[in-house]
Amino acid sequence: MTTALYRRYRPDTFAHVIGQDHVTEPLRAALRSNRVTHAYLFSGPRGCGKTTSARILARCLNCEQGPTETPCGTCDSCKELSTGGPGSLDVVEIDAASHGGVDDARELRERATFAPVRDRYKVFIIDEAHMVTTQGFNALLKLVEEPPDHVKFVFATTEPERVIGTIRSRTHHYPFRLVPPDVLEPYLGTLCAEEHIEVGDGVLPLVIRAGGGSVRDTLSVLDQLMAGTTQGTLDYHQTVALLGYTDSALLDQSVDALAGGDGAAIYRVVERMVESGHDPRRFVEDLLQRLRDLLIIAVAGDGAEAVLSGVPADQMERMQVQAKNWGPRHLSRAANLTDEALRAMVGATSPRLQLELLIGRILIPTTGDGPATSTVETESAIPGTVGMVGGGAPFEPQPNSGNEESFGAAQARAELERKRRERAEKVPETKTPPAEKNHENTPVEEAAPSMPEENSWPQTATPPLGDEETPAQESPVAATPAKTGRDSDMLRGRWNEVVEHLASISRVAWT
Ligand SMILES: [Zn+2]
Repeated sequence: MTTALYRRYRPDTFAHVIGQDHVTEPLRAALRSNRVTHAYLFSGPRGCGKTTSARILARCLNCEQGPTETPCGTCDSCKELSTGGPGSLDVVEIDAASHGGVDDARELRERATFAPVRDRYKVFIIDEAHMVTTQGFNALLKLVEEPPDHVKFVFATTEPERVIGTIRSRTHHYPFRLVPPDVLEPYLGTLCAEEHIEVGDGVLPLVIRAGGGSVRDTLSVLDQLMAGTTQGTLDYHQTVALLGYTDSALLDQSVDALAGGDGAAIYRVVERMVESGHDPRRFVEDLLQRLRDLLIIAVAGDGAEAVLSGVPADQMERMQVQAKNWGPRHLSRAANLTDEALRAMVGATSPRLQLELLIGRILIPTTGDGPATSTVETESAIPGTVGMVGGGAPFEPQPNSGNEESFGAAQARAELERKRRERAEKVPETKTPPAEKNHENTPVEEAAPSMPEENSWPQTATPPLGDEETPAQESPVAATPAKTGRDSDMLRGRWNEVVEHLASISRVAWT
């Protein structure tokens, strides 16, 4: 029986830890300058290298040539703590999930008083530290605060907020992060090469997606796939089937049918998909992912390829055509509806029904008379979020087809433009009067007329989202500045009167 992939490839130096440079760099710097503190808190999602880094830190500290950031690898301590090694007597790993009670803490306290058996430090790695009970933490408090010189602590936890504050404040806190795909993909590539496994196009992005940014989970997925390979090749279709993802060809057909408004075709795809045993929820999830990709292509243009680096070239070409055909506005709306449907599908008794409803909603035209328009209006009334589609275009409700609104908007725009021109002409002369006055009332009185000006400028200066196709949307935005603009114009026009009046009041006050 072979050892699991993530065990075999577990790094034993900081240089080999991937995606956590923000943690490993300062730790290495501390080792270089011999400023390693006595207690650390490593937090972050599971499978991101917290415990591994704790072991590496122990290895660096206890190397015969150390403390060093590059353990020699030949001394007894280095060998024992290397990948696949038996572990060292002076590095004690405690799983707080099963040993987090007050008695365990007291025992640990006792053990800490003894000098290391052979090496420089006794390093205690407390895994799942959030599982230590409050009494357990309290028993450790004094020790963590003022440990003997030969003792180092590393607390590793997925939930740092559950580690009591008094312990947390006595540690240096290093948050680990999920590893991004652009770091994982080349790493998995070299790993597959070392394992003599050939990887088909588009396989690694699927593996990375299944791993969710956790290195351990990603390697477990890859391990499972590798175990099932025939003739040392990871094939795309095999991977899709094994991981239960929707085949990209099926997604292509769905997207083409939806973008083209071909209801018959898309319902045929659903029929086929459900018959072949796919989970409708998974399909909707994959559809949302695809819509997100298309939205990125639609709004980021040439920059999209950098964002979607894992997508094979031919797939990218197809998606560019799809994004162009569907258009950002409709994509955004479809993504919004899909996101809502996905949430509605949680615990739904008939996910297929939800899927078919979703398709219907996407296919309903966004402009036109009768029920279609009213549906869209109801949807836009709900403050929908785009969910997974972070950074995509905001959901834009479609305008009504009425003529009155557009006329009103045009009027408001013309009015606004006129005000803006007038204001531009008046600005120089309105600025002068306050400078001439110099008595204690000036700052207070000056603030009043200038406030409306500040309020109206940003609203008129920033163009509302959307373009010429949505005149009705602009009307509420345009109406506000027009009103405040009028007030400030009135005030500016009568500024000299105000100044004179104030001067007379002040004179009365002085005499
Ligand atoms: Zn060594």
